[in-house]
Amino acid sequence: RRKRVLEADDFVKGVLENNRAILAQTITLVESNAEKHFYLAQKVISELLPYTGKSIRIGITGVPGAGKSTLIEAFGSYLCDLGHRVAVLAVDPSSQISKGSILGDKTRMEQLGRNKNAFVRPTPAGGTLGGVARKSRETMLVCEAAGYDVIIVETVGVGQSEITVRSMVDLFIVLMLTGAGDELQGMKKGILELADAIFINKADGNNKLKALTTKEEYNQILHYIPPATKGWETKAYTCSALNGEGIDTIWDVVGNYVEHTKRNDTFYVRRQEQLFLWLRETLQSQLLNRFYDHPNIKNTLPDYKQQIEEGRMTVTIAAQKLLEEYDKHK
Ligand code: GDP
Repeated sequence: RRKRVLEADDFVKGVLENNRAILAQTITLVESNAEKHFYLAQKVISELLPYTGKSIRIGITGVPGAGKSTLIEAFGSYLCDLGHRVAVLAVDPSSQISKGSILGDKTRMEQLGRNKNAFVRPTPAGGTLGGVARKSRETMLVCEAAGYDVIIVETVGVGQSEITVRSMVDLFIVLMLTGAGDELQGMKKGILELADAIFINKADGNNKLKALTTKEEYNQILHYIPPATKGWETKAYTCSALNGEGIDTIWDVVGNYVEHTKRNDTFYVRRQEQLFLWLRETLQSQLLNRFYDHPNIKNTLPDYKQQIEEGRMTVTIAAQKLLEEYDKHK
């Protein structure tokens, strides 16, 4: 027997009823790169739009092995026990760079995935980071419409992905490990500028004392780092994803943060800015695609490249002339 093809209304109704099978199918539709799916997906999302925006959106990052997956499993289960409904999404651009995924595949967070109040979705495959981000943002909206009130977006500390995730969540948590002292001077400073809270994970057993020291070190350094969120003081804490200690602290921090930022409006201002940034990024990438797809550009670009290469034309003039070519024949 042939399966009936789902139409926009079927997707919308299924999502609003939190029918998990339809929710998964809707996300697959949203993630599709096929043109025929694009319009259907946009129709579905447009109809779901009035039901979106009511969740708390939390980004979590950390180097591979920091304990993200263990922590999200523990934190997610804790929230489900409190009566929340938790969706976990992943943004893993490594999958298109290395053809392998750093975050790993569906086997992660199996236990949480079986919880009827949780929904775990692996990273969308393929495309640029921008493409992955678009899909994740829209998936987030779909999950909100399905009634998930806490959305966790997990990413790994490679390249741009942390900045991208920061731009789609309300608050951003960075998982760290002990013994960070020396490294603090270098690369990690950038990530601290994005963090609303830092959790030193694996604060258990022999590692606990060291974790408390590391926490203090971070708290010292944080004094010299501009806050990621206006009016909010980023602090370091310890936790153990393994034995559950400090997991409740994460939720306390989230609660305080949301209350604080809603009171001073930062919460709403950031959400609005995120929408406009998303719009700008979408326009930028689509304009660029249009530019490169234009026959005039296709015809003349190799020639300009050659002139640049041979030192016969400056890059700035080449860019200007290419834009003239594009404008001329629009
Ligand atoms: P991810 O790569 O950041 O997702 O890290 P995982 O969640 O896969 O954890 C990496 C390893 O660290 C696993 O062997 C975990 O069991 C272990 N681990 C995670 N959290 C803790 C913790 O709080 N304490 C201890 N002792 N080990 C942990």
